[in-house]
Amino acid sequence: MRVLRAKEAGLPLLMLEIDMNSEPVQRVADKLAACAACYRRRVNDPATPGTWTSRRTGEEGTVPYWETLYPETGLPGWPPLAFVFTGAGPRALANRMQDLAELAQEHWAAQERRYGNDGYLDFTGKVPLVLTTLDRLQQYGPHGFTWRRVAQERGEFEPLLTALTDTRTEAAYQQREGKRRAAEQARREAERAAQQAEQDQRLQWDAEEDEEEAPVVPQCATPDCERLVDAPVDWYTEIPVPPEDGISCGPCRLNQAYRNRGLRGALRRMRKASGDL
Ligand SMILES: [Zn+2]
Repeated sequence: MRVLRAKEAGLPLLMLEIDMNSEPVQRVADKLAACAACYRRRVNDPATPGTWTSRRTGEEGTVPYWETLYPETGLPGWPPLAFVFTGAGPRALANRMQDLAELAQEHWAAQERRYGNDGYLDFTGKVPLVLTTLDRLQQYGPHGFTWRRVAQERGEFEPLLTALTDTRTEAAYQQREGKRRAAEQARREAERAAQQAEQDQRLQWDAEEDEEEAPVVPQCATPDCERLVDAPVDWYTEIPVPPEDGISCGPCRLNQAYRNRGLRGALRRMRKASGDL
């Protein structure tokens, strides 16, 4: 397997394997499996040496081995692997590519993450695999429609960087999900606002009805009396109380009646006293 580094040519790091059609296709599939195993291999992180326990029990303090060899690949995820097929006719090579894809599916096929009617393809721990024939590579070049990405929902020959770009990504899914959540929240807020407006309208109608039903009763005109003029005289009185006049409340009219009687009594007593003189 060769390692192709041609950054100046706009190519990412590429593991390159030329297949001469000289061995069973299972051997080619084994090479892909070996590549995946190599990518999975972890070593102690030279930057933070792990303890014996962390080395034994987890990934803490370790890094993927390949990252120590190729710190910058130019692409996210594992370094891509390219197989270039030659040594037979186009039809035989197409069959060989198809056979390889079927034999090595566990190493390239993304996990489908489905959530409701949506989801994404999770390529974590999968080899970005592209295939072509030497004829096609020579005809179109690495930037032409040369490469077949072996992944779900792919099939046509694409330029290398297009072929290595994942489709139906988690990032795109999260963006759609975010928009759906925002729309749902906006819908709920609009619903709440509509309910509130309806309630406010109902309260306003009720208040208007109350106003219509109950004309405003003025307050009693007596200073410091806080009763309304229609406040009744609701206790027994032995003296006649003047009828409602729209000016003074019942208790005030009763007080007035008492005062008038007292005044009359005093006048009578005064007259009587002057007559006696
Ligand atoms: Zn009063």
